[in-house]
This record gives sequence, C-alpha cells and structure tokens, in this order.
Amino acid sequence: MTEPLVVLKDVNKHFGDLHVLRDIDLEIGKGEVVVVIGPSGSGKSTLCRAINRLETIESGTITIDGKPLPQEGKELAQLRADVGMVFQSFNLFAHKTILDNVTLGPIKVRKEKKAAAEKRAMELLERVGVQQQAQKYPAQLSGGQQQRVAIARSLAMNPKVMLFDEPTSALDPEMINEVLDVMVGLARDGMTMVVVTHEMGFARKAANRVVFMADGQIVEQDTPEEFFTNAKSERAKDFLGKIL
Ligand code: ADP
Ligand code: MG
Repeated sequence: MTEPLVVLKDVNKHFGDLHVLRDIDLEIGKGEVVVVIGPSGSGKSTLCRAINRLETIESGTITIDGKPLPQEGKELAQLRADVGMVFQSFNLFAHKTILDNVTLGPIKVRKEKKAAAEKRAMELLERVGVQQQAQKYPAQLSGGQQQRVAIARSLAMNPKVMLFDEPTSALDPEMINEVLDVMVGLARDGMTMVVVTHEMGFARKAANRVVFMADGQIVEQDTPEEFFTNAKSERAKDFLGKIL
C-alpha cells in the first residue's frame, strides 16, 4: 500500500446499547479507492461520518495525514473541507444557484476570491458535465445532475479524501452511470476515495479493495475480483447471494 492517509485504530462507537462500530482497524492509502459494502445497519454510514467527525467516537483513534481529527472550531471546518463527503441525498442549497453552491465553501472556508472561485467552479462543473446548468437552481436539475454538482462542490475544496455514502442509491436507474462515470474518472485521477456502494461494476472498475462490514465489524477485505468471486466468510457469501 502507498503511504497511509486515513488511519482508524481500534475505533468503537455505540448508539445507546447498540455497538455500531466494533474495534475498527482500517488504513486507507494515498490514492487508494476502498469500497465499503455490507448489509443495511452494519455501520457503513457511521464509519464515513466518523471519518469527517459528523459522529464522535468513544474509543480508538482516527488520523488523517498523521493528525488526529480536530474537536471543534476552525480546525473542524478545515477538516470538513479536507474530507469531502457526498451523501445519498444531494444536499445542495436549494435557494442558491449551482455556481453559488460550488463557490460557497471555497469563498467562506478557503478564503478564495470570488472571481477565482467562480473560474475554478466552472472548470469543475465542466469536469462533471453540468457547466450549462451553472445559473440554474438545484430543483431545475435531474437527480443525476444534482449529484454531479454535489461532487463538484466537494472537489472545489481540494479535499485530500472523498467519502461517498451510497451516492447513487436515490437515483433513477438511467442516471446511475453518469454519476459512477464521474467517480471512476476521479479514481483514475488518483483521488483517495471511500465509497459505500453496492454497485459492483464500480467496485470492479475502480476499487483497489473491498471492505465487507457486518454488525459494526470489518468481517473481511480483499480485492474486488477476489471478494466477488471467492468471498471467505459465511456472512459475506450470504450477503453476496442476496445482492448478486
Ligand atoms: P449502514 O449505513 O450500514 O446501513 P448505519 O451506520 O447507518 O448503517 O447504522 C448502523 C446502526 O446504527 C443501525 O442499526 C442504525 O439504526 C443505528 N444508528 C445510526 N445512526 C443512529 C443514530 N443517530 N441514533 C441511533 N441509532 C443510530
Ligand atoms: Mg448507510
């Protein structure tokens, strides 16, 4: 593996009596693409949210580039910029144009000048194929277009790592590939990515590693090829039997 960028060591988290992350050890190398897969409720979203500190953890450590996650304030805003996150629901600001959605973070958090932020935003919107929609509002775009804007908005912050939590599961089938294609492009360009998805085509095309979670634990991890054809654990075999 390349130099580790995101490192989780012995991470634990409960929601009440529910032990949602159990002794999670996970290292993600620079430029590595890790697909996280597993049954609903297994802790995949909580894992992603812990990495950009939308959830706190009770024990263990999470470091990014060797530094522990900050607790609050400016450092936390900086962390959220360094760790981009794309959710199932697109989470764009409804009352702002597409262009403003993408420039807001760079102007507010990165303190970029408006003109420079807009120039870069237009480049990113072009990269994800929605430059023609720049002056529109989110509701005027399709789900696939909105999700691509959400990706551009994260990229505008020059993140070190991008987290994707089921980015295509709220999309109509015909829009899934336009979003996955953007993500495959990002992976090929060397972005470090953690992607919660059951899209095996994406995993096979872009992932270096598949991490299988169940009941808050990492049960097994392997290359996509090996995992999808030759899973070792009963839990993984059972799960794959249901989704394949
Ligand atoms: P996944 O993304 O794999 O479906 P989650 O990480 O969303 O799983 O959830 C793991 C478990 O934690 C589930 O049982 C879920 O119901 C529970 N959970 C998630 N968020 C909360 C919360 N804020 N409060 C209480 N329970 C939660
Ligand atoms: Mg989830």
